[in-house]
Formats: sequence, structure tokens, C-alpha cells
Amino acid sequence: MDLAAYRTDAEAFLGEYGVAYHRHFAGLTDELPLDEIYDRHAALFSLDAVARLREQADAPALGDDDRRRLRLLLDFAVEGCLGLQTKAIDGELAQREASLEIEVGDTSIGFREAAVVQANEPDATRRGAIEAARLAATEAALNPLLREAREQTRAVVAELGWPSYRAMCEQLKGLDLDRLARSTGAFTAATEGAWETLVGPAVARTVGVGLDRLTRADLPWLFRFREADAHFPPERLMESFVATLDGLGIDLAAQPNVDVDVEQRPGKSPRAFVVAVRVPQDVRLVVPPIGGRDDYTALLHEGGHLEHFASVDPALPFEYRHLGDNAVTEAFAFLFDHLVENGEWLRRRLGVEDEDGALAAHARASRLVYLRRYGAKLAYELIAHAETPPDDAALADAYARELSAAVHVPWPTATYLSDLDPGFYVAAYLRAWALETHLRAWLAGRFGPAWFAEPAAGAALRELWRDGQRLSAEELLGELTGAELDFGVLLADLGLAT
Ligand SMILES: [Zn+2]
Repeated sequence: MDLAAYRTDAEAFLGEYGVAYHRHFAGLTDELPLDEIYDRHAALFSLDAVARLREQADAPALGDDDRRRLRLLLDFAVEGCLGLQTKAIDGELAQREASLEIEVGDTSIGFREAAVVQANEPDATRRGAIEAARLAATEAALNPLLREAREQTRAVVAELGWPSYRAMCEQLKGLDLDRLARSTGAFTAATEGAWETLVGPAVARTVGVGLDRLTRADLPWLFRFREADAHFPPERLMESFVATLDGLGIDLAAQPNVDVDVEQRPGKSPRAFVVAVRVPQDVRLVVPPIGGRDDYTALLHEGGHLEHFASVDPALPFEYRHLGDNAVTEAFAFLFDHLVENGEWLRRRLGVEDEDGALAAHARASRLVYLRRYGAKLAYELIAHAETPPDDAALADAYARELSAAVHVPWPTATYLSDLDPGFYVAAYLRAWALETHLRAWLAGRFGPAWFAEPAAGAALRELWRDGQRLSAEELLGELTGAELDFGVLLADLGLAT
């Protein structure tokens, strides 16, 4: 196989895919011609291409760097191969989800929009009604298709010769999921006793009930945290972002390779994203402004991705510019979005004083809920993607059991399939949270608590960003501080270390 030609074609595919994706989800065009793009590059994702890459990746005489690059190419090929084989059903799912309506009282709400409506609904009874309708629609309209998609994926994984989806992801992404699950399990056990003191006050203030009366339907409202909106006015969104970059010695206006779009536009996706059309020459950010703190979190998060990809060394091989361990880019994104929880940042960039500590307390509570939820999600995904997974009824029960135990609310079974992230992305998020905490401590140690206002900290970050995603999160941390990526650091960060 001609690897140079494969890499060139792969980069062309990602560029065309990126442009089409960006134009559609930024609301610039209705068309999303992904089929044509896949057809033009179908050879990248054939079973034959996967087999040949695998042969080369397993060749005994490879150097470390060649082996690393081949593993990334193989991961890319397998992901595309799975995508091609399940394309028809994925399209049907997207279409059904987009056109699905739920009835709440005497109003009808679009299924996708309902999540946003629920997060902004002050009335708990109505939140519960929206959630119940969403879950019923998931069960009736989406789960049959999701089960079909899962069976197709399992069949392709078997055809490719892996014993399970889990084994495939672990090998191709270089993950040790048992080790990660032990680490998140220990975190969950260690934070059990802090649940009431950390989460209780935030729930009482925002939801207005005790923990015993909290429901799953209330969680989006808790995270939405509308009381804080007054501190995060829409007109200061861009200004504070520009000033944040400026503090790190980055002049956004002078970066010809980035595009930042925070305009309101009909047809724009409600989800913020960054698309790396060509790294580092063409990176695009899209944030749909909704209002409040969430816009700041979204813009800073995507801004972290944006600056990471825009700063990659153009001389790096394709694999390290476009592929690699997504825990790395997610860690830089979290590093930026955590600034909205940083008292010093709030003071300097927005003139906000967190006098009664409510902002910080809410942030800590939300973080604990998220971390425990994702730890439980990992435990569940390991069951769902095992070599011999339980039957569907038992699987749905396992899902509700794991999540209920971690988040201390009765968790529904209906989302047991839609809550599965492709490629164990849950592991990327979990490892990114840990890496971000290490990175933040490292920056604060070297540049002080207001590291975000130090150009030297920006220069240190740019040095890390140059390397794209050549190293895994574990390797990056090892080279930077010699530390091991572990969840213990999150305990300390939440003030819970013993
Ligand atoms: Zn992200």
C-alpha cells in the first residue's frame, strides 16, 4: 500500500468533509453532501484498506514513530469503514430525530429543541413532563433504529476480526480502559461522603429542593444556572474572549487561519463546534449565542480547540496534525472553559466579584455531578461493549443502576443506547478532565493564579500546541511534569483530598 498517497487522500477527505460540515451546521447552506464526499474517497475506508493498514501496523521491523503513525491511520480507516457500513441507518436516525415532535400539555416541541426548552423551564412539574415525553419518544421512535445500528456495528467489528468493539477501540486508540475504570471508580468511592455537602447547597439554591426530592429532569436546570446570567451579558462575550487571548499574547485579529462565528443565524446548529478543515491553515469555530454563562463556556471551550489546532506545526505529519488522542485537545478546551469558574478571571475580564462564593460553589457541585456521571457512563459502556454483553433488558437495567448509584437520582433506562458515545469518547473526556487539572496546576505554579494574563503562559501553551496530538494525554503529562495521569488530582482540585 502506498502510504504517502493514502495520507494525501485522507487529508483531502477531511478537508472536504470539514467544509461541508461547517457550511451546513453554521447555517450557511441546507445541503450536507457527505455521501458524495464518501463516494469520492471510498477507497480510504474499504475492508481491503483496513486489512492492508493492519498488516503494515503489525510489521515487526517498524520504528516507534512509524508504528504510532500507522496505528492512527488504522484507527481513522476503521472509523470511516464503520461509518460507511452504517451510513444508511445513521442517516435515517438523524432524519427521524430531526423531524420528531413531542407533545407536552397542549404544545408540541421539536425533539432536539426539547432539551434546550427543558433546561430553561423554571417549573419543575413541566420539566418532568418534557423529560417524560422525550424518554417515551426515545423508546418508541429511536431505540429500534439504534438497536439496528448497534447490530450492524457489531457485525462489521466481527468481520474485521476483533472480539468486541471495546477490544478494537482499546487497541486502535491505545487505551487501558480497566485502569481508567479503576481510577474513576476510586474517585466515585472517595467522593461519596462529599455529595451532600457539595451538591446539596447548589441544588437547594438553584432547584429549590432537598437532595431527596431532586429528579433527573431537574439536572439540566441545575447546570443551566440561570441566576448567574446577569454576570455574563451577551455584549461582553466576544470582548472578553479577545481580551483572554490577548492576555496570553495571542492577537485574534492577526490570525489569518482562524474563523470565529458567534452570530445568530437561522439554521445554525444549537451545538457549538470547531472544525479543523486543514491544520493549522484553516480552523473554524461556530458558537450559536443562546445567552448567559453557557455562551461563555461554549466560546472558551471551542476557543481552546481553535487555538490548539491553529498553532500546530505545519511541518508535522498528517496523523499528528489531524488525528491522535482527542483527550489532548479536549484538555486544552477544558482549560479555557474552566476560566468562567476562576475568580481571578471573573474579576479581571468581567468585573464580577463572587462575593458569597455562589459561583465557585455551583461550579464545584456541577463538576462533581459530571465527573461521577461520566465515571458511571464508562462503567456502563464497558458492559455494553463487552465480548458477550447482556441482553437488552439486562443492559438497560445495568445502565439505570450505574447512573442512579453515581448521581443519586432515579435514572431512566430509555437512553441506554443513545447515551453510548462512539469510539469510547467518554474515556477521552475523563482523561481530558484529569489532564486539564494537571495542566492548570502546572500553569498556576509557574505563572501564578492569573496565569491566563501572562504572555509567557501563552508562549508555554503554544509550545505544547505545536505538537498537535502526537503524544497521548498520558505521554504529554509525563513529558511535562513526570506525573501519572490519575483522578486523585481531581479530588484535590475539589478540595476533597485527604
Ligand atoms: Zn470539546
